[in-house]
Amino acid sequence: MLPEKMKAAVVNQFGQPLSIEQVPLKKPGRGQILVKVLACGICHTDLHAAEGDWPVKPSLPFIPGHEGIGEVVEKGDGVDFLEKGDIVGMPWLHTACGHCEYCITGWETLCDYQQNTGYSVNGSFAEYVLADAGFVGKFPKDVNYLEMAPILCAGVTVYKGIKETEVKAGEWIAISGVGGLGHLAVQYAKAMGMHVVGIDISQEKLDLAKEHGADIVVNGKDPKATEEIKERTGGGVHGVLVTAVAPVAFEQAIDMLRKKGTIAMVGLPPGSINLPIFQMVLNRFTVRGSIVGTRKDLQEAIDFAVEGKVHTTAHKVRLEDVNDVFENMKNNKIQGRMVIDMMA
Ligand code: NAD
Ligand code: ZN
Ligand code: ZN
Repeated sequence: MLPEKMKAAVVNQFGQPLSIEQVPLKKPGRGQILVKVLACGICHTDLHAAEGDWPVKPSLPFIPGHEGIGEVVEKGDGVDFLEKGDIVGMPWLHTACGHCEYCITGWETLCDYQQNTGYSVNGSFAEYVLADAGFVGKFPKDVNYLEMAPILCAGVTVYKGIKETEVKAGEWIAISGVGGLGHLAVQYAKAMGMHVVGIDISQEKLDLAKEHGADIVVNGKDPKATEEIKERTGGGVHGVLVTAVAPVAFEQAIDMLRKKGTIAMVGLPPGSINLPIFQMVLNRFTVRGSIVGTRKDLQEAIDFAVEGKVHTTAHKVRLEDVNDVFENMKNNKIQGRMVIDMMA
Protein backbone atom coordinates (compact mmCIF):
# COMPACT_ATOMS: atom_id res chain seq x y z
CA MET A 1 0.00 0.00 0.00
CA LEU A 2 1.25 3.46 -0.86
CA PRO A 3 1.23 6.15 1.84
CA GLU A 4 -1.15 9.12 1.55
CA LYS A 5 1.58 11.66 2.15
CA MET A 6 5.24 11.99 1.27
CA LYS A 7 8.21 14.02 2.38
CA ALA A 8 9.33 16.73 -0.05
CA ALA A 9 11.52 19.87 -0.21
CA VAL A 10 9.19 22.69 -1.22
CA VAL A 11 9.89 26.19 -2.58
CA ASN A 12 7.19 28.42 -1.06
CA GLN A 13 8.87 31.73 -1.87
CA PHE A 14 11.69 32.69 -4.23
CA GLY A 15 15.00 33.35 -2.51
CA GLN A 16 13.88 31.67 0.73
CA PRO A 17 15.11 28.35 2.12
CA LEU A 18 13.18 25.30 0.95
CA SER A 19 10.96 23.75 3.59
CA ILE A 20 10.80 20.04 4.28
CA GLU A 21 7.11 19.17 4.38
CA GLN A 22 4.62 16.34 4.19
CA VAL A 23 2.57 16.75 1.00
CA PRO A 24 -0.19 14.61 -0.53
CA LEU A 25 0.80 11.79 -2.86
CA LYS A 26 -0.96 11.95 -6.25
CA LYS A 27 -2.17 9.01 -8.35
CA PRO A 28 -0.81 8.54 -11.88
CA GLY A 29 -3.23 9.64 -14.63
CA ARG A 30 -3.45 8.18 -18.13
CA GLY A 31 0.02 7.64 -19.61
CA GLN A 32 1.69 8.45 -16.29
CA ILE A 33 3.67 6.46 -13.76
CA LEU A 34 4.31 7.01 -10.07
CA VAL A 35 7.98 6.57 -9.20
CA LYS A 36 9.53 6.00 -5.78
CA VAL A 37 12.60 8.24 -5.87
CA LEU A 38 15.87 6.52 -4.90
CA ALA A 39 18.26 9.40 -5.60
CA CYS A 40 18.21 12.88 -7.13
CA GLY A 41 21.11 15.10 -8.15
CA ILE A 42 21.04 18.81 -7.24
CA CYS A 43 21.53 20.89 -10.41
CA HIS A 44 22.40 24.58 -10.50
CA THR A 45 19.10 24.99 -12.39
CA ASP A 46 17.28 23.99 -9.17
CA LEU A 47 18.99 26.92 -7.50
CA HIS A 48 18.03 29.29 -10.37
CA ALA A 49 14.44 27.97 -10.03
CA ALA A 50 14.31 28.47 -6.25
CA GLU A 51 15.75 31.98 -6.60
CA GLY A 52 13.33 32.91 -9.41
CA ASP A 53 16.32 33.88 -11.58
CA TRP A 54 14.79 33.46 -15.03
CA PRO A 55 12.22 35.44 -17.07
CA VAL A 56 9.58 32.67 -16.91
CA LYS A 57 9.23 31.68 -13.25
CA PRO A 58 7.65 28.53 -11.83
CA SER A 59 4.35 29.02 -10.00
CA LEU A 60 4.62 28.70 -6.24
CA PRO A 61 4.70 26.44 -4.32
CA PHE A 62 6.68 23.81 -6.22
CA ILE A 63 9.04 20.87 -5.65
CA PRO A 64 12.35 21.14 -7.60
CA GLY A 65 14.53 18.25 -8.76
CA HIS A 66 15.06 17.04 -12.35
CA GLU A 67 17.81 14.46 -11.83
CA GLY A 68 15.68 11.86 -10.09
CA ILE A 69 16.10 8.12 -10.56
CA GLY A 70 13.72 5.62 -9.01
CA GLU A 71 11.49 2.60 -9.21
CA VAL A 72 8.10 2.44 -10.91
CA VAL A 73 5.53 1.67 -8.19
CA GLU A 74 2.24 2.40 -9.97
CA LYS A 75 1.08 2.77 -13.56
CA GLY A 76 -1.79 4.82 -14.98
CA ASP A 77 -3.99 3.55 -17.82
CA GLY A 78 -2.32 2.97 -21.16
CA VAL A 79 1.21 2.32 -19.89
CA ASP A 80 1.99 -1.08 -21.36
CA PHE A 81 5.72 -0.65 -22.02
CA LEU A 82 6.96 -0.24 -18.44
CA GLU A 83 6.48 -2.55 -15.47
CA LYS A 84 6.35 -2.01 -11.73
CA GLY A 85 9.89 -2.43 -10.44
CA ASP A 86 11.53 -0.93 -13.55
CA ILE A 87 14.27 1.66 -12.85
CA VAL A 88 13.63 4.96 -14.62
CA GLY A 89 14.93 8.53 -14.55
CA MET A 90 12.89 11.73 -14.64
CA PRO A 91 14.60 14.38 -16.81
CA TRP A 92 13.89 18.13 -17.14
CA LEU A 93 11.65 17.42 -20.18
CA HIS A 94 8.63 16.07 -18.33
CA THR A 95 6.46 15.96 -21.44
CA ALA A 96 5.91 17.61 -24.83
CA CYS A 97 2.87 17.92 -27.11
CA GLY A 98 3.96 15.37 -29.72
CA HIS A 99 2.38 17.18 -32.70
CA CYS A 100 4.05 20.61 -33.11
CA GLU A 101 6.73 21.39 -35.70
CA TYR A 102 9.49 20.69 -33.17
CA CYS A 103 8.02 17.48 -31.78
CA ILE A 104 7.58 15.93 -35.22
CA THR A 105 11.15 16.78 -36.26
CA GLY A 106 13.00 15.29 -33.29
CA TRP A 107 13.30 18.61 -31.42
CA GLU A 108 10.83 17.99 -28.61
CA THR A 109 13.15 19.98 -26.34
CA LEU A 110 11.87 23.12 -28.16
CA CYS A 111 8.15 22.29 -27.90
CA ASP A 112 6.10 25.34 -26.90
CA TYR A 113 3.77 23.14 -24.89
CA GLN A 114 6.42 21.24 -22.91
CA GLN A 115 6.26 20.77 -19.16
CA ASN A 116 9.44 20.77 -17.09
CA THR A 117 10.15 18.55 -14.11
CA GLY A 118 10.85 20.49 -10.93
CA TYR A 119 9.70 23.74 -12.58
CA SER A 120 6.23 23.69 -14.16
CA VAL A 121 5.43 20.29 -12.58
CA ASN A 122 6.70 18.90 -9.28
CA GLY A 123 10.10 17.21 -9.32
CA SER A 124 12.14 14.60 -7.49
CA PHE A 125 13.20 16.42 -4.29
CA ALA A 126 10.57 14.12 -2.80
CA GLU A 127 9.90 10.52 -1.87
CA TYR A 128 7.65 10.02 -4.91
CA VAL A 129 7.21 11.77 -8.26
CA LEU A 130 4.77 11.55 -11.15
CA ALA A 131 6.24 11.11 -14.62
CA ASP A 132 5.03 10.85 -18.21
CA ALA A 133 5.89 7.25 -19.05
CA GLY A 134 6.90 8.24 -22.59
CA PHE A 135 9.61 10.65 -21.42
CA VAL A 136 11.56 8.77 -18.76
CA GLY A 137 15.08 7.38 -19.23
CA LYS A 138 15.48 3.62 -18.75
CA PHE A 139 18.17 1.97 -16.63
CA PRO A 140 19.17 -1.61 -15.86
CA LYS A 141 18.29 -2.72 -12.32
CA ASP A 142 21.74 -3.05 -10.80
CA VAL A 143 23.13 0.47 -11.37
CA ASN A 144 24.69 2.83 -8.83
CA TYR A 145 21.80 5.27 -8.29
CA LEU A 146 23.94 8.08 -6.89
CA GLU A 147 26.23 8.04 -9.92
CA MET A 148 23.42 7.65 -12.44
CA ALA A 149 20.99 10.33 -11.17
CA PRO A 150 23.07 13.29 -12.53
CA ILE A 151 23.02 11.78 -16.03
CA LEU A 152 19.32 12.78 -16.19
CA CYS A 153 20.26 16.46 -16.57
CA ALA A 154 24.00 17.16 -16.30
CA GLY A 155 24.90 14.12 -18.41
CA VAL A 156 22.41 14.46 -21.22
CA THR A 157 22.84 18.25 -21.40
CA VAL A 158 26.59 18.14 -21.92
CA TYR A 159 26.41 15.11 -24.21
CA LYS A 160 23.98 17.00 -26.47
CA GLY A 161 25.93 20.26 -26.08
CA ILE A 162 29.16 18.57 -27.16
CA LYS A 163 27.41 17.25 -30.29
CA GLU A 164 26.18 20.80 -30.91
CA THR A 165 29.77 22.12 -30.99
CA GLU A 166 30.27 19.88 -34.07
CA VAL A 167 33.75 18.99 -32.79
CA LYS A 168 34.89 15.64 -34.19
CA ALA A 169 37.06 12.86 -32.79
CA GLY A 170 40.69 13.94 -32.89
CA GLU A 171 39.86 17.65 -32.58
CA TRP A 172 40.04 20.02 -29.59
CA ILE A 173 37.14 20.99 -27.36
CA ALA A 174 37.23 23.29 -24.34
CA ILE A 175 34.88 22.71 -21.43
CA SER A 176 34.44 26.03 -19.64
CA GLY A 177 33.13 25.46 -16.10
CA VAL A 178 34.03 22.14 -14.50
CA GLY A 179 31.13 21.87 -12.07
CA GLY A 180 28.32 19.31 -12.03
CA LEU A 181 27.84 19.57 -15.79
CA GLY A 182 31.46 20.25 -16.70
CA HIS A 183 33.09 17.32 -14.93
CA LEU A 184 30.82 14.98 -16.88
CA ALA A 185 31.45 16.94 -20.09
CA VAL A 186 35.19 16.33 -19.80
CA GLN A 187 34.48 12.59 -19.67
CA TYR A 188 31.90 12.51 -22.49
CA ALA A 189 34.28 14.47 -24.72
CA LYS A 190 37.12 12.04 -23.98
CA ALA A 191 34.81 9.06 -24.59
CA MET A 192 33.84 10.69 -27.92
CA GLY A 193 37.50 10.82 -28.94
CA MET A 194 38.27 14.50 -28.45
CA HIS A 195 41.24 16.33 -26.97
CA VAL A 196 39.98 18.29 -23.99
CA VAL A 197 40.84 21.61 -22.34
CA GLY A 198 39.24 22.06 -18.89
CA ILE A 199 38.67 25.64 -17.72
CA ASP A 200 37.50 26.81 -14.30
CA ILE A 201 38.50 29.42 -11.75
CA SER A 202 39.75 27.29 -8.86
CA GLN A 203 42.57 24.79 -8.57
CA GLU A 204 40.31 22.06 -7.08
CA LYS A 205 38.05 22.16 -10.13
CA LEU A 206 41.06 22.00 -12.44
CA ASP A 207 42.37 19.00 -10.48
CA LEU A 208 38.98 17.31 -10.91
CA ALA A 209 39.12 17.98 -14.66
CA LYS A 210 42.59 16.39 -14.80
CA GLU A 211 41.37 13.41 -12.77
CA HIS A 212 38.62 12.86 -15.32
CA GLY A 213 40.99 12.96 -18.26
CA ALA A 214 41.38 16.59 -19.42
CA ASP A 215 44.54 16.90 -21.52
CA ILE A 216 45.12 20.54 -20.55
CA VAL A 217 43.66 22.59 -17.69
CA VAL A 218 43.69 26.37 -17.55
CA ASN A 219 42.52 28.82 -14.90
CA GLY A 220 40.04 31.17 -16.57
CA LYS A 221 41.14 34.02 -14.27
CA ASP A 222 44.68 33.91 -15.63
CA PRO A 223 44.99 36.99 -17.91
CA LYS A 224 46.94 34.83 -20.40
CA ALA A 225 44.36 31.98 -20.35
CA THR A 226 43.15 32.25 -23.95
CA GLU A 227 46.64 32.92 -25.28
CA GLU A 228 47.89 29.78 -23.57
CA ILE A 229 45.00 27.71 -24.92
CA LYS A 230 45.63 28.90 -28.48
CA GLU A 231 49.29 28.10 -28.18
CA ARG A 232 48.90 24.66 -26.65
CA THR A 233 46.15 23.53 -29.07
CA GLY A 234 47.96 24.65 -32.20
CA GLY A 235 45.78 27.66 -32.99
CA GLY A 236 42.70 27.36 -30.81
CA VAL A 237 39.98 24.85 -29.99
CA HIS A 238 37.48 23.64 -32.59
CA GLY A 239 34.62 24.11 -30.16
CA VAL A 240 33.75 25.33 -26.66
CA LEU A 241 31.02 24.06 -24.38
CA VAL A 242 30.27 26.79 -21.83
CA THR A 243 28.67 25.50 -18.65
CA ALA A 244 30.08 28.25 -16.41
CA VAL A 245 27.60 30.31 -14.42
CA ALA A 246 29.27 33.61 -15.37
CA PRO A 247 28.68 35.74 -18.52
CA VAL A 248 32.42 36.56 -18.68
CA ALA A 249 33.17 32.90 -19.48
CA PHE A 250 30.96 33.10 -22.59
CA GLU A 251 32.88 36.12 -23.89
CA GLN A 252 36.20 34.48 -23.07
CA ALA A 253 35.17 31.44 -25.16
CA ILE A 254 35.30 33.54 -28.35
CA ASP A 255 38.98 34.29 -27.80
CA MET A 256 40.06 30.65 -27.58
CA LEU A 257 38.29 29.48 -30.73
CA ARG A 258 40.01 28.29 -33.91
CA LYS A 259 38.65 29.63 -37.25
CA LYS A 260 35.33 28.01 -38.21
CA GLY A 261 34.82 27.10 -34.53
CA THR A 262 31.53 26.76 -32.65
CA ILE A 263 30.47 27.71 -29.14
CA ALA A 264 27.60 25.81 -27.52
CA MET A 265 26.08 27.91 -24.74
CA VAL A 266 24.68 25.78 -21.93
CA GLY A 267 25.22 27.68 -18.67
CA LEU A 268 22.31 29.96 -17.74
CA PRO A 269 23.53 32.91 -15.66
CA PRO A 270 21.12 35.84 -15.95
CA GLY A 271 22.63 38.48 -18.27
CA SER A 272 23.93 38.91 -21.80
CA ILE A 273 27.23 39.02 -23.68
CA ASN A 274 28.90 41.16 -26.34
CA LEU A 275 29.84 39.50 -29.62
CA PRO A 276 32.72 41.20 -31.50
CA ILE A 277 31.24 41.46 -35.02
CA PHE A 278 34.54 41.68 -36.93
CA GLN A 279 36.02 38.62 -35.22
CA MET A 280 32.79 36.63 -35.66
CA VAL A 281 32.49 37.40 -39.38
CA LEU A 282 36.09 37.01 -40.50
CA ASN A 283 36.61 33.77 -38.60
CA ARG A 284 33.22 32.25 -39.46
CA PHE A 285 32.43 31.59 -35.83
CA THR A 286 29.13 30.04 -34.74
CA VAL A 287 27.50 30.66 -31.36
CA ARG A 288 24.42 28.64 -30.48
CA GLY A 289 22.37 27.72 -27.46
CA SER A 290 21.77 24.15 -26.41
CA ILE A 291 18.98 23.03 -24.12
CA VAL A 292 19.07 19.62 -22.38
CA GLY A 293 18.62 16.77 -24.90
CA THR A 294 15.93 14.76 -26.64
CA ARG A 295 14.75 11.34 -25.48
CA LYS A 296 17.20 9.82 -27.95
CA ASP A 297 20.09 11.91 -26.57
CA LEU A 298 19.05 10.90 -23.06
CA GLN A 299 19.13 7.19 -23.75
CA GLU A 300 22.52 7.52 -25.47
CA ALA A 301 23.91 9.54 -22.56
CA ILE A 302 22.62 6.92 -20.11
CA ASP A 303 24.23 4.12 -22.12
CA PHE A 304 27.66 5.82 -21.92
CA ALA A 305 27.30 5.91 -18.13
CA VAL A 306 25.96 2.36 -17.80
CA GLU A 307 28.89 1.14 -19.91
CA GLY A 308 31.24 2.82 -17.40
CA LYS A 309 32.63 5.43 -19.82
CA VAL A 310 31.61 8.32 -17.57
CA HIS A 311 31.42 8.41 -13.78
CA THR A 312 29.81 11.12 -11.69
CA THR A 313 31.92 12.39 -8.79
CA ALA A 314 28.86 12.09 -6.54
CA HIS A 315 28.62 13.19 -2.90
CA LYS A 316 25.72 11.75 -0.95
CA VAL A 317 23.45 14.13 1.01
CA ARG A 318 20.00 13.91 2.66
CA LEU A 319 16.91 15.77 1.48
CA GLU A 320 17.21 17.95 4.60
CA ASP A 321 20.65 19.16 3.41
CA VAL A 322 19.36 20.86 0.27
CA ASN A 323 19.63 24.44 1.62
CA ASP A 324 23.26 23.89 2.67
CA VAL A 325 24.02 22.50 -0.78
CA PHE A 326 22.52 25.62 -2.40
CA GLU A 327 24.72 27.82 -0.19
CA ASN A 328 27.85 25.96 -1.27
CA MET A 329 26.72 26.03 -4.89
CA LYS A 330 26.38 29.83 -4.81
CA ASN A 331 30.01 30.00 -3.71
CA ASN A 332 31.24 27.53 -6.36
CA LYS A 333 32.36 25.22 -3.56
CA ILE A 334 30.96 21.95 -4.90
CA GLN A 335 33.22 19.34 -6.49
CA GLY A 336 31.24 17.23 -8.98
CA ARG A 337 27.61 16.72 -7.98
CA MET A 338 25.74 16.60 -4.67
CA VAL A 339 23.15 13.82 -4.87
CA ILE A 340 20.25 13.32 -2.50
CA ASP A 341 20.07 9.72 -1.29
CA MET A 342 16.33 9.24 -0.70
CA MET A 343 16.99 5.93 1.05
CA ALA A 344 19.16 7.67 3.70
P1 NAD B 1 27.80 24.14 -10.93
O1 NAD B 1 27.56 25.20 -9.94
O2 NAD B 1 27.96 22.73 -10.48
O3 NAD B 1 29.07 24.48 -11.86
C1 NAD B 1 29.33 25.75 -12.37
C2 NAD B 1 30.84 25.87 -12.54
O4 NAD B 1 31.15 27.09 -13.20
C3 NAD B 1 31.60 25.88 -11.21
O5 NAD B 1 32.58 24.84 -11.22
C4 NAD B 1 32.25 27.25 -11.19
O6 NAD B 1 33.49 27.26 -10.50
C5 NAD B 1 32.38 27.52 -12.67
N1 NAD B 1 32.64 28.93 -13.00
C6 NAD B 1 32.13 30.05 -12.40
N2 NAD B 1 32.63 31.15 -12.99
C7 NAD B 1 33.47 30.72 -13.98
C8 NAD B 1 34.29 31.37 -14.93
N3 NAD B 1 34.33 32.71 -15.00
N4 NAD B 1 35.02 30.60 -15.78
C9 NAD B 1 34.97 29.26 -15.73
N5 NAD B 1 34.22 28.59 -14.84
C10 NAD B 1 33.47 29.31 -13.97
O7 NAD B 1 26.55 24.26 -11.95
P2 NAD B 1 25.96 23.14 -12.95
O8 NAD B 1 24.93 22.35 -12.23
O9 NAD B 1 27.08 22.47 -13.64
O10 NAD B 1 25.15 24.09 -13.96
C11 NAD B 1 25.85 25.02 -14.75
C12 NAD B 1 24.89 25.94 -15.49
O11 NAD B 1 24.25 25.21 -16.52
C13 NAD B 1 23.78 26.54 -14.64
O12 NAD B 1 23.56 27.89 -15.03
C14 NAD B 1 22.57 25.69 -15.00
O13 NAD B 1 21.34 26.33 -14.82
C15 NAD B 1 22.86 25.46 -16.46
N6 NAD B 1 22.18 24.30 -17.06
C16 NAD B 1 21.78 24.43 -18.34
C17 NAD B 1 21.17 23.36 -18.97
C18 NAD B 1 20.78 23.46 -20.40
O14 NAD B 1 20.01 22.63 -20.86
N7 NAD B 1 21.25 24.44 -21.14
C19 NAD B 1 20.96 22.17 -18.28
C20 NAD B 1 21.42 22.08 -16.97
C21 NAD B 1 22.04 23.15 -16.36
ZN1 ZN C 1 19.68 20.51 -14.53
ZN1 ZN D 1 5.41 19.95 -29.33
